Amino acid sequence: MHRTALVLFSGGQDSTTCLAQALTRYERVETVAFDYGQRHHVELQARLKVLEALRQQFPAWAPRMGEDHLLDLAVLGQVSETSLTRDMAFKMESSGLPNTFVPGRNLLFLTLAAALAYRRGLDVLVTGVCETDYSGYPDCRDDTMKAMQLALSLGMDKRLLIETPLMWLDKAQTWALAESLGGAPLVDVIVEHSHSCYLGDREHRHAWGWGCGSCPACELRARGWERYSGSGKA
Ligand code: ZN
Repeated sequence: MHRTALVLFSGGQDSTTCLAQALTRYERVETVAFDYGQRHHVELQARLKVLEALRQQFPAWAPRMGEDHLLDLAVLGQVSETSLTRDMAFKMESSGLPNTFVPGRNLLFLTLAAALAYRRGLDVLVTGVCETDYSGYPDCRDDTMKAMQLALSLGMDKRLLIETPLMWLDKAQTWALAESLGGAPLVDVIVEHSHSCYLGDREHRHAWGWGCGSCPACELRARGWERYSGSGKA
């Protein structure tokens, strides 16, 4: 029986939902994020706000919330040129992937998270990767996750589970999952404090939260919210 988990927690809608689910399942839940020179540190601030709100508003979860880790991954900026780490506009590449894609980024995240989990004695890695709504990031695919689970378990000689609760959900279902885990208060925390916008916009408030409203991340989040709230569940 697995009792402890490390959640890859960026402060977005997906990872906040994953964190909430882990808090309903595991006795001790730690969180980790990576600072890789994001153009905007809004995301890293958002995650602290989410953690604080969860601690305050969910007394059953608060005692389970363990240490929060922030790992410096500035080296990613040296090996990639993307609009997330440099001052470039968003566009689709000829590969069919958006230029936000940092090749293999998620593989690095999982490897570092696994090393941290090993040291902290945590059994399960939880990540909000998803095949359904995303732009085909190959390092977020289910097969990639299963291969990583095997490689990390073998390479560290310790059974490690990679849990991907959102793998087959679309964004509307992710909102609905949040509601089922923490009711309207959790949905409110996600709307108010989690951050998805690629441009780091915290000036424009929509029904689904803060953001520019037009970047791919905002569009995805807004469309999911529309379908979720249109279904009469909001
Ligand atoms: Zn945006």
